Amino acid sequence: MQQLERDDEERYRDIFAAAGLRKSHLIFPVFVSDKPGKIESMPGMTVTPVEKITEHVQTIIGSGIPSLIVFGIPKSRDRSGSSASNRKGVVQRAVRAIKSSYGSSVNVLTDVCVCQYNPSGHCGIVSSNRVDNDATLRVLAEIAASHAEAGADVVAPSSMMDGQVRAIKGALGGFTKTMIFSYSAKHASSLYAPFRSVAFAKKRSRFDKSSYQVPYANPRQVLLEIETDINEGADMVMIKPALAYLDLVRMVKDKFSYPVAVQNVSGEYAMIKAAAMRGLVDEEEWKVCSIASIKRAGADRIISYFALDVSKYL
Ligand SMILES: [Zn+2]
Repeated sequence: MQQLERDDEERYRDIFAAAGLRKSHLIFPVFVSDKPGKIESMPGMTVTPVEKITEHVQTIIGSGIPSLIVFGIPKSRDRSGSSASNRKGVVQRAVRAIKSSYGSSVNVLTDVCVCQYNPSGHCGIVSSNRVDNDATLRVLAEIAASHAEAGADVVAPSSMMDGQVRAIKGALGGFTKTMIFSYSAKHASSLYAPFRSVAFAKKRSRFDKSSYQVPYANPRQVLLEIETDINEGADMVMIKPALAYLDLVRMVKDKFSYPVAVQNVSGEYAMIKAAAMRGLVDEEEWKVCSIASIKRAGADRIISYFALDVSKYL
């Protein structure tokens, strides 16, 4: 006899178990700033001021999730994105605080990019209406070194500049334990809009980054970007967004047998939240199924705003 109504929690636990998901696979994103704030476009997510970061991290560690990735939202921007590599920048102060409180009991990843730090909102340094790849590499290298110096275990370049892994590897020099997880295949997508509406000046959420991000229609380019980053020495390659790209996750896993992380981005979070708030889908079921599907596709690590919520089923 089949029991008609199974307990939801038991069902979610079974889904994760079948996908082979463990808490150690999850990475929770953290936004740090000098002032706190709610994120209207991402219900349930908050911006944490640096002085409160250790409390926030205690909640993450308490859930059993061992890893987090820090995204900084600075007070001001300038053309060269100089606050991104400042020893006293928001990310550097946050990482120092986290590591001095929790040491090796938490893995701290940092987002390495300039888009939150320069007025254009682009992931590269803009001059003469163009993104200057090589000038950006120098800045990314300085940012990564400053994060490593603050104690980051992993730096995660997300600017999609050519040569970003090689440039950062060169700059890390003496920080031999700092790993590089590269956003190798970051697709141009409107699914970043909820995050951008928090992080970017003048509430702009639409940017055309198609000249340096990967187009949806070109899986061959994804494979090329991944291969390049592996050759340049990335410790893990990353793909984002997640749900409409899971075939690529499997393709990359099969072709390279290399560690792959996937980011379940803000738009993917917001879609489930918004639909659930209108009573159109069951939020709990869809966050569980979407995370399970990313694992099933072959992701070794999953960065997700749902990580904390779903950890209770693991
Ligand atoms: Zn960026």
